[in-house]
Amino acid sequence: MFSRNPRGKSSSRPSVNRAGRPTSRGRRRAPQARALDLTQFVKKAIQTTETEVFNPKHRFADFEMHSKLKANVAAAGYVHPTPIQDGTIPHILNGRDVIGIANTGTGKTAAFLLPLIHKTFKHRTEKVLIIVPTRELALQIEDELRKFATGSGLCSALCIGGAHMGDQLRSLSRNPSFVIGTPGRLKDLIERKKLHIAEFNNIVLDEVDRMLDMGFINDIKYLVALMKTPRQSLFFSATMPREILDLAQKFLNDPVTITIKSRATSENVDQDIVRVGPKEEKIEVLHNLLIMPELKKVLIFGRTKHGVEKLASRLEDRGFKADSIHGDKSQSQRARALRRFKNDELTVLVATDVAARGLDIPDVTHVINYELPENYEDYIHRIGRTGRGDKKGNALTFVD
Ligand code: ADP
Ligand code: MG
Repeated sequence: MFSRNPRGKSSSRPSVNRAGRPTSRGRRRAPQARALDLTQFVKKAIQTTETEVFNPKHRFADFEMHSKLKANVAAAGYVHPTPIQDGTIPHILNGRDVIGIANTGTGKTAAFLLPLIHKTFKHRTEKVLIIVPTRELALQIEDELRKFATGSGLCSALCIGGAHMGDQLRSLSRNPSFVIGTPGRLKDLIERKKLHIAEFNNIVLDEVDRMLDMGFINDIKYLVALMKTPRQSLFFSATMPREILDLAQKFLNDPVTITIKSRATSENVDQDIVRVGPKEEKIEVLHNLLIMPELKKVLIFGRTKHGVEKLASRLEDRGFKADSIHGDKSQSQRARALRRFKNDELTVLVATDVAARGLDIPDVTHVINYELPENYEDYIHRIGRTGRGDKKGNALTFVD
């Protein structure tokens, strides 16, 4: 166990709370600490037991999907659909509008991609617009799309900020069946008359809750209103706040809502706090953790772009294979850092919340909250990057 870990001592929890209280006025972290109950960050993982194993109603082979698509799904190693896939795919294949609500890491991407790929396989005139909150998520979805649409001849265009406009214009000129983008860039391309959104009769809004948090709601209203009707509309999210329901009521046609009440993402994540004493250097504490052999692949969260950048370079100076992703980096730098982290060329990735949202990185052993998240929801999203699927993960939150 970690030396600064107070768990196990009888006085641990109250002292944790005291540490978080804004006793000394003007401390930078005081406002967040007040809003956060630090005991929330200490939790033992619940081991998944046999009885929790989900029995899907369908197998992928049962779905009425193109044989080539099924072969690609099998090649990806998917045998049984996840609960959200099991629940939504049949409705999407039937042409219904769907609201899918399930935790992060539960396979929402394939839930919407597979039936939509099938649809475009069958009718080449179908056009799909996928709107996501972040660039990384768009890239990730395009990767999945490529995997599942291998051999179909379907083409796609990525329309994200921070990336080369010329390439995007070229891929749009090829009349892609799928366009995946972030709201700002999509709007820009529509205004330049390069993206003819009125031709699109399928829309996916992924991570809708995050798009709301990021202030994209008006952009989304603008985009959806320009689309073709009738259309098939799919909303996917981990939570469904009131504003989204209002939006859904306005833009969806008699939707089927599938809510998966799975165990919280955090349940298979061992969560603990790391106390940093008044005389200790935070970076030293971090250093001492990172040299422990079990911290093999570590995602560290900081609050500001500048802070994240600085921390990554300080860790690099100390000999750690570290890099960062945040909003001040170019898209190619972000993609490169992410790729290297995914491929285990880096052991440490330092990120801001926005840059890391929705990312599916295999085998992250530890998430470290070097700085506290804004709220508990962000905390849950951060720690959801470890312990994906059935794996056990670890989350450590620095408290000073
Ligand atoms: P979400 O969007 O719900 O956060 P993702 O779509 O990113 O989840 O999926 C999480 C991980 O689970 C990915 O690595 C994906 O390849 C994998 N996955 C999804 N569906 C299945 C399945 N049916 N069988 C096996 N792995 C799956
Ligand atoms: Mg997702």
